[in-house]
Amino acid sequence: MTSHLLPTYARVDLAFERGEGAWLITAGGDRYLDFTCGVAVNALGHAHPHLIEALTEQAQKVWHVSNLYRIPEGERLADRLCEASFADTVFFQNSGAEAIECAIKMARKYQSANDKPERYRIITFEGAFHGRTLAAVAATGNKKYLEGFGPPVDGFDQVPFGDIEAVKKAIGPATGAILIEPIQGEGGVRVVPLPFLRALRQLCDQHALLLIFDEIQTGIGRTGDMFAYERTGIAPDIMTIAKALGGGFPVGACLATTEAAKGMTAGTHGSTFGGNPLAMAVGNAVLDVVMAPGFLDKVRHTALLLKQKLAEVKDRYASVISEVRGEGLLIGLHMVPPAGEMVDELRAEKMIAVAAGDNVVRLLPPLIISEDEIAEAVSRIDKACARLARTHARAKKKVAKQGVAS
Ligand SMILES: *Cc1c(COP(=O)(O)O)cnc(C)c1O
Repeated sequence: MTSHLLPTYARVDLAFERGEGAWLITAGGDRYLDFTCGVAVNALGHAHPHLIEALTEQAQKVWHVSNLYRIPEGERLADRLCEASFADTVFFQNSGAEAIECAIKMARKYQSANDKPERYRIITFEGAFHGRTLAAVAATGNKKYLEGFGPPVDGFDQVPFGDIEAVKKAIGPATGAILIEPIQGEGGVRVVPLPFLRALRQLCDQHALLLIFDEIQTGIGRTGDMFAYERTGIAPDIMTIAKALGGGFPVGACLATTEAAKGMTAGTHGSTFGGNPLAMAVGNAVLDVVMAPGFLDKVRHTALLLKQKLAEVKDRYASVISEVRGEGLLIGLHMVPPAGEMVDELRAEKMIAVAAGDNVVRLLPPLIISEDEIAEAVSRIDKACARLARTHARAKKKVAKQGVAS
């Protein structure tokens, strides 16, 4: 397979021609159950009629005008996001990493506007993922992503996951903010305990730091709430969202309180494409669906059903799955054999899922998935587990026999 694409992705040799709800279909007509959703992006599945209508209708009016002019659809989307959250103000971008960049710049500018420009450092957590720009990989702190790219952007202090004493120790005269995912997605669906998040809020208040939540993966209904922070009883000062916001159309956003955003005056930040009319039309259409009465109740109900069934699968195949974790429809299967083997076995069952850190397989079905499709998914997961259990039992036996023989 030769390709002129930069080979930074080890791609699976599989291409899809179209999608229908929770299904992706190849040119040959093979139907795959989509539990990846473009990594938590296609929250409303594929070819959702309301999104198609919004995009095509907007495409016939105007695609792009730049942020030099008012964009009414963007003003409306910002109003609705603020109405639905702690935030007062929104900056739209085209991706998650850009939203993180905006959040980092905003936090630094806030401290500077308070005559504390020396407070530019941000505390982050091991296992985090914040994106691939130079600042975002520095915030992510994963050596694998930093190596060979020169000195990492300065200003990030990483501490162990869930270690509040380490956070306290890391706070110094140069600290300006704390950045955390309420649930680590790429890191392996690691749910941050609520008391820990509340303790971070307290520390931020105590030391005049900004609390930044990266909800790029968790936001817009994935966890069963509009935003994952809602179940914590606290709110951040700044929040990034992206993935599901456009349902497949590239859009990201940095949300903030008026106070946290006070340094971001005219001319301090910009984006040519960010918040263009096409993206805003689709974003509004996504909110029409996700914020409709009863939608998130249904997500929670579906999630509970899936989790219960997965717990039964785990009990049947304890040699394969050691833990089912996550919130809502952001679910992780902590695996005994390598997670990649499970992803391959699922694909053999015509179901796609994505691996994450900590030897986890992430299950990210569309939020609109039906109970029949959940049952179908569980049956395919069961078959994949059965095969893995057999393979690994055989391998174990062989090792034991060799042990006796030698
Ligand atoms: C995906 C993701 C990002 C990066 O988003 P991109 O759109 O790929 O730049 C950042 N943070 C979290 C939590 C993510 O899941």
